[in-house]
Parts: sequence; C-alpha cells; structure tokens
Amino acid sequence: MTSPYDLSREDFATHLDGVPNYRINQILEGLWQQDRRFSEMTSLPLALRTQLEEEFPLALTMTSEVATDAGETMKWLFTLADGATIETVLMAYQDRVTVCVSTQAGCAMNCSFCATGQAGFTRHLTAGEVLEQVAYAARTAAPRRLSNVVFMGMGEPLANYDVTTTVVKRLHAERGMSARHLTVSTVGIAPAIERLAGEGLPLTLAVSLHVANDAQRDKLVPINRRYNLDRLAVACHEWVGTTNRRLSFEWALIAGLNDTPEAAQELLDYARPLQAHINLIPLNPTPGYPVIGSSMSKVRNFADMIEAGGLTVTTRATRGRSIAAACGQLAEVTRGKRARLPVSSQ
Ligand code: SF4
Repeated sequence: MTSPYDLSREDFATHLDGVPNYRINQILEGLWQQDRRFSEMTSLPLALRTQLEEEFPLALTMTSEVATDAGETMKWLFTLADGATIETVLMAYQDRVTVCVSTQAGCAMNCSFCATGQAGFTRHLTAGEVLEQVAYAARTAAPRRLSNVVFMGMGEPLANYDVTTTVVKRLHAERGMSARHLTVSTVGIAPAIERLAGEGLPLTLAVSLHVANDAQRDKLVPINRRYNLDRLAVACHEWVGTTNRRLSFEWALIAGLNDTPEAAQELLDYARPLQAHINLIPLNPTPGYPVIGSSMSKVRNFADMIEAGGLTVTTRATRGRSIAAACGQLAEVTRGKRARLPVSSQ
C-alpha cells in the first residue's frame, strides 16, 4: 500500500543503487514539479523509466469521474491497491485551483449528517496516497497551477495525524505550497489540535463546529462527548495563541437546527473570543439524507446575523454544491446513494 509519493530522495537512492544523483533529482522533479508519470519522464533512459514503472506503480486507480459547473468542478472516485475507495474533488475558481483530499478510506467519527461516517472506517491512507491525489489533481488542472489543498474529503485528518503532518510538510517542501494555501479540517480532536499547534507547520486550521451547544453537538458530532465545546475552546485558544494564525469554523447549515437566531447567537458567543472566521456551507438536499439543508434565504440571513455580530463570514459558493467539499459531504455518491451527480451548473 505504497505510492511513489511515499518515497523520499533517500528511498529512491537506496533502491536505485548506482543511479547517479542527477537522475534522482530528475525523478523527484518529474514527480513533484512536473506531475509526470515515470513513463513521461523522457529525460530518463527508457530502461530506468520502465524499471520505475514496474517497481513503483501508482497507488490510485481512477474508477469514476464526474464533472459539474462546465468542468470547473471535478470529482473522482479512486480505488486503492487493496480495493478501498476514496474520493477527491478539484475545484477551479477565477483566482485559485483547489483540491479537496481524503486522508482515510471511510471515517470512524460517525457524524450523524455524514454518509462517510455512517458507513464506517476502512483504513488510514498513507502519505503517498494523499499526495498522489494532489498530483492527479495538478495534472488535470494544468496548465492552470494547483494553488490550494484542503484536507476535507473522507476521513478525519487529525485521526491520521502523522500522515496528515507528513503530507503538509512534503507539500510545503517539495511543491513549495505556502501556509495560506493548505487547510486541515477537524471535527475537534482537542489534544491533536494542541499537538498540531506546537508543530510550527504552515497551514490553516478549520474546525467543523456546526453547532455551539453541547446537547446538540453531542448528537451531531459524537466526538463532542469526548471533547466538549469547553475543551475544544481550550485547544482552539492554544492554536490561535501559539500559531498566530486565523482559525475557521465550518458551519453546515441544517434547516431548523443551526440556522436560527439562537444558533447564530451561540456561535457568536463561542467564536468571538477566538476571532474565528466563519465558513457557512449550504448543504445540498439529498434523498435519504437525515438532515435538510437551509434555504438560501436562511443562509443569507444567518450570514447577516454573524456579520452584524462582528465576525467575518464566507458562504461557500453553491456552484460546487452538488459535490460539496465539506468534510464528509462527498461520500454519499461513493456509497451508491446517488449513482451519478447532476452534471449541471447550479
Ligand atoms: S463529517 Fe468528517 S469527521 Fe464526521 S464522519 Fe464525516 S468524514 Fe468523518
């Protein structure tokens, strides 16, 4: 279960004993800067290309592709070597191109509004399997440059902590991606947030909050029973205090549950001391889904209430709504609840 993107310079040098250093440089440049397959690295001798292809096959096989928004949003289902499946979404905007990657096949967090959580956990991904999603997206995006990576696909990134931090480090070191362009989301594993704060990693943290009272959050996001809102706030303060970086709260708007004036006030009370930025996610109504997304007028009203309360708000563009990049919102298609995504602009 490895990918060529799991391998370091030392790994290649050890395995390809006798291959000169400049060839290793060409391999790494081909993988990381040019997003090439080994067979496309024409600066390498044919025999070496063939050897690399045979000995380090890609870990991901693309088994389904869906495009919406006139091709500006693409979602892939990848099958891994052991048969596990994951999904990845590429979203092109005027000013940036973003890929949303999975860090686990399935998820153990069991959030009640999320099909991935309801389907359970299969396994952690390796760093190479995550990085290969980025490379695939970068190849597809070309000639536009892939600018942003968000860890908001299947899985809880901080439950696969070592892999997530390795991926961040390698994206920074090998692809030169900067802090503003890497966002890790979490449902709120408080000790992992505190550990992450101490790593000095160049990333943005997005906490999937969704409700700001324990009674409701216990049901919606079960990890809240272990790390409740007070405990989470301690970790968030640690993050902000240590990293001096902006914190975001993700808020998927669910009709009647968290789109009310009371819910807005709870969010303001919780988020204001942290000066958190609020990302509102209009949910896409899905048959068989246990919750219903708020109407767009409710979304706008809610955004107005938060802004009037003094926090900054972004409402996710609805054009990617049919394959929304919220944590776990991508999964229902892979689970067969919808065989196909609507291929249309929204
Ligand atoms: S919302 Fe995210 S953390 Fe929660 S079950 Fe879904 S994938 Fe896991």
